[in-house]
Amino acid sequence: MRQRLFGWGRHPDVEAWQIEGEDLEAITSDVVLTRGLGRSYGDASLPPPGPLRVAATRRAERILSFDPTTAVLHAEAGLSLEHLHGVLLERGYFVPVTPGTEQVTLGGMLAADVHGKNHHVAGTIGSYVQALRLRLPDGSIKRVDAANSSQDLRELFHATIGGMGLTGHILDVEMRMEAIATPWLVESSQVENDLESLIAALRCAAHEWPFTVAWADLMAHGAGKGRGILLKGRWAELSQSHAQAPRRSRQLTIPCAAPHALLSNFTIACHNTLRMAAARRAPASRLTTPQRFFYPLDRVGRWNLLYGRRGLTQYQCVLPWDPGMTSYRRLVDIATRHGAGPFLCVIKDCGAAGAGLLSFPMPGISFAMDFPIVDGVTQSLVDDLNDHVATVGGRIYLAKDAFTRRLHFEAMEPRLGRWRELRRRLDPQRRVRSALGDRLLD
Ligand SMILES: Cc1cc2nc3c(=O)[nH]c(=O)nc-3n(C[C@H](O)[C@H](O)[C@H](O)COP(=O)(O)OP(=O)(O)OC[C@H]3O[C@@H](n4cnc5c(N)ncnc54)[C@H](O)[C@@H]3O)c2cc1C
Repeated sequence: MRQRLFGWGRHPDVEAWQIEGEDLEAITSDVVLTRGLGRSYGDASLPPPGPLRVAATRRAERILSFDPTTAVLHAEAGLSLEHLHGVLLERGYFVPVTPGTEQVTLGGMLAADVHGKNHHVAGTIGSYVQALRLRLPDGSIKRVDAANSSQDLRELFHATIGGMGLTGHILDVEMRMEAIATPWLVESSQVENDLESLIAALRCAAHEWPFTVAWADLMAHGAGKGRGILLKGRWAELSQSHAQAPRRSRQLTIPCAAPHALLSNFTIACHNTLRMAAARRAPASRLTTPQRFFYPLDRVGRWNLLYGRRGLTQYQCVLPWDPGMTSYRRLVDIATRHGAGPFLCVIKDCGAAGAGLLSFPMPGISFAMDFPIVDGVTQSLVDDLNDHVATVGGRIYLAKDAFTRRLHFEAMEPRLGRWRELRRRLDPQRRVRSALGDRLLD
């Protein structure tokens, strides 16, 4: 069907033919790109402009096998995390690395090599993938094993993990799940009054807690800008599950694009103040569900519509560890000086980089900031942020990006030459393409 496609930020959009079906081998035979549920924010899941065909995998969502002794799952690439957890959570298994939404497919998770709140101890999803079946740009289909393949296939594997769909179409995946003692988590939060204390507390918590994340209030003024809440969690043990199990929360859905004034610096500043006050009153530790802990935003369906018709962009970067924290303070100063947000800022502690050739995380601190798109402002905001990130040796996350310029990306990515060389060998006629690839990678 010919339709207008966009990512989660609803900017940019592209008219294209989208083909769906249960048979991934069939629907990927003549398309330029494969996409999942479109939860990447920018143009990663979009074809370049023109009358091109893309495959959407959401109907290819079968679990092909699951071995409880090894916890190895074999499933089609269109399987969503929500569906997977619906089957395996009650049986005592969870995905070892999860992004902040359950509305993603296995193929999309691998192509972006997603990270979660446990990156400091668990790395990215790519480390748990044992093999995948891939339709290559020349049309052939290969099973690529992470450990037992030839050097060429191993290189292809590492270019595919984090390769944003540009090495071919992932058909199915073999991946290790994590065995968990209970389907609940113990969570604990603490409030910090400035950015530096918040990041110091995040780093310190990494020694004791497998899941950590910080939310920062960038609407606060002066030294308080960047104050926030650190959230820590771990899977509950059987002995802790006698406490009353928390109930799954109900979902709201935003029906249409909101008027522009609904989210503004003023309304977000009020929300942030209330959130800080509530966090100060919260009990020291409590039991919660994976849905509440990992996916708080999924409780509001289509929340991206709150940003109105122009949409939003999420700017996510990782900056190397900076003991003085001046590069972090400078980043939030740049982010706030244009006067349009950010309305949300999430900070994570990143551990060692994975083996994916273009995988995003590296040791340091990651900032993910949501900005409403404002004509004449957003591009210069992203340019300024990118100047800073490139100068201090950081990099940006392709799954979130819509505005980065090629020169900035090249300045941040010493690994790009190797990836481009492999892609030229694999796809000399550029049969597989995306809007993001044309903008930054090829
Ligand atoms: C609320 C929210 C929270 C998020 N939190 C995190 C987070 O904490 N950590 C994180 O890492 N990411 C996070 N993300 C980003 C998200 O996890 C990634 O963008 C993920 O790739 C989206 O999966 P998808 O199935 O929707 O893929 P899409 O967005 O449809 O596609 C993403 C990329 O994967 C490629 N792709 C998809 N399927 C295939 C396939 N079968 N074969 C080949 N290529 C394919 C596409 O071409 C595209 O390049 C978040 C996104 C949202 C909306």
